[in-house]
Amino acid sequence: MTIGPDLIKEFSKIVGEEDVDTSPEGRISHAYDATQVQYKPQIILYPECTEEVSRILSICNREGIPLYPRGAGSGFAGGSVPVQGGVSLVMTRMNRIKKIVPEDLYAVVEPGVVNGVFQKSVEIMDLFYPPDPGSMAFSTLGGNVATGAGGLRSLKYGVTRDYVLGLEAVLPSGEIIRPGVKTVKGVVGYDMTRLLVGSEGTLAVVTEITLRLIPKPETCRTALAVFANHRDAGRTVARTIAARIIPSTLEFMDGSCVEAVEKQFRLDLPAHGAAYLLIEVDGGPEETDRGIARIEGICREEGAVHILSAADRTEGERLWKARRSISQAINRMGLTKVNEDIAVPRSRVPEILDYLQALARERKMRILTFGHAGDGNLHVNILTEASRKEEAEACVVEIFREVLRLEGTISAEHGIGMVKSRFIGMEIAPPLLSAMQKVKEALDPQGILNPGKIFPVDWSNG
Ligand SMILES: Cc1cc2nc3c(=O)[nH]c(=O)nc-3n(C[C@H](O)[C@H](O)[C@H](O)COP(=O)(O)OP(=O)(O)OC[C@H]3O[C@@H](n4cnc5c(N)ncnc54)[C@H](O)[C@@H]3O)c2cc1C
Repeated sequence: MTIGPDLIKEFSKIVGEEDVDTSPEGRISHAYDATQVQYKPQIILYPECTEEVSRILSICNREGIPLYPRGAGSGFAGGSVPVQGGVSLVMTRMNRIKKIVPEDLYAVVEPGVVNGVFQKSVEIMDLFYPPDPGSMAFSTLGGNVATGAGGLRSLKYGVTRDYVLGLEAVLPSGEIIRPGVKTVKGVVGYDMTRLLVGSEGTLAVVTEITLRLIPKPETCRTALAVFANHRDAGRTVARTIAARIIPSTLEFMDGSCVEAVEKQFRLDLPAHGAAYLLIEVDGGPEETDRGIARIEGICREEGAVHILSAADRTEGERLWKARRSISQAINRMGLTKVNEDIAVPRSRVPEILDYLQALARERKMRILTFGHAGDGNLHVNILTEASRKEEAEACVVEIFREVLRLEGTISAEHGIGMVKSRFIGMEIAPPLLSAMQKVKEALDPQGILNPGKIFPVDWSNG
């Protein structure tokens, strides 16, 4: 359906002419997220309040216009990419932190607030919002909620879903719903809050979020352990968890990732390791000293060849920079990248690391792996020349089979979006998939909200 001058005028009346963009540059810059797929919207709208979102959705529902909610566009699943054109609804102007309530440990925010900005705002009040995706410097809380984002601290503190107490959201009909509570407990009716978290903008547009906060940990200690092979690092992860030690972070980086970071950013990291673990322990001073000492002990017993214990916050930040720069460093290698976001039970981390190395050797592919190994979540990056992209994609199917054999999941935190929709049936059996589709049809009978996502689409018909 084409959005003609009359509809453009109708949208302009709602958001104001300055918040409507149909320019070729605007359309191209909203055609992407962090994947390499590209589909242009016909129009970009920047609402500034819930009422505007509601009126826009009512029009789209009436006219059958596809609408694609968008935060910062940093998703790795094509979630905000407008595969059927229509409206790109950019939520970044709804970026107010409405209130922080220390006595009840919660905050109310608009969806366009950037995660890192929110973290800083609560930390100055000695409060803590733990979900910290690698993209926290730019991704929005709305995007985090819609994807159910995880982060580097998920191991100890959980993921976005664990901090969402309640929402305000607009259904495709334009109706406004407010599921959830501002209390610690609450069991009235179905848990619609949890249903919307991770629904990737396919069921409703989130316009307000109530987030749980916790007290800020007093202190933290950071260390980097270097291993001569992946298996030793993998075993260290499994043994640390089995020993009931829960660090706030336990991140795996293979030697090629660290090499790529070193080449781009020159952080003076210990060189020549095959595998690295970035470890952070937080809490009271005694607890952190004891915790880091115990983990370093396990690292040594499992064969770490070097352990760099950060002397202070500045050195700790240098080690964190290494981890947070990996995606950027890999992108700058100039190769075609197929990246996946798998998770296996933590005790199976050594097995999946072995498997990935064997697959790389067998297929003569470069596979760079890093990620939140402490919660079994690894980002697997297959790098190749453009001419071998199909081979790389075939490897993905094999990796997914192995992950499912190990009782893991094919997407730990990036979601399904459009890029993984053809694989969803590998993990979700038909009765459950059909139940999910019925939920979608009930809330969005016209199918206007983020169509072409999550559920498999037959692209062969055009
Ligand atoms: C360098 C880098 C590191 C990353 N690290 C992590 C990581 O550690 N953990 C992790 O989980 N992800 C990570 N990501 C992926 C990405 O940042 C997250 O998925 C993030 O939550 C997306 O937020 P966004 O604001 O960019 O949303 P977008 O990419 O704009 O949108 C993502 C999805 O949310 C929907 N959406 C956005 N806003 C709303 C709204 N208000 N209402 C309804 N639906 C909405 C969109 O339709 C889309 O389906 C990383 C990405 C990059 C580029």
